[in-house]
Amino acid sequence: MSKAEVNEAQHSNEQVLSMKPSELAELVRVIVQEAKRPDPLTPAEIRQMEQQQEQRLNQSDQVKAEIEQKVARQNICTHLRKDGTARIVYVQNQNYLLCQKCRKIIRPEKEPELFNELFQLQMANNQLFD
Ligand SMILES: [Zn+2]
Repeated sequence: MSKAEVNEAQHSNEQVLSMKPSELAELVRVIVQEAKRPDPLTPAEIRQMEQQQEQRLNQSDQVKAEIEQKVARQNICTHLRKDGTARIVYVQNQNYLLCQKCRKIIRPEKEPELFNELFQLQMANNQLFD
């Protein structure tokens, strides 16, 4: 330690010692805050975060594409078999029809015409098997 450094150390010690309790409390608060502050991110960590973000975006694109495909399948599905019978089941407690091919849910309040048509077909089919 040089003489200048010793002087400076003594000087800063004196500064701490001459602090008012409120100033000392503030100093301790700042030191604790600095100690708690997370280390700055390394370039590798930043790259990893960017990759994760990109992955999440890709996944949501994938989910969106899957939903679009499902809706497209449902839109071209007639919900009928080749023999003209309905490929649906009536879910009684929820009051909707479910297509067994495209998994579309047909609710009477949303698509009353389609619901009635398929419901009647389904009832007619069931009666045939009675
Ligand atoms: Zn269908």
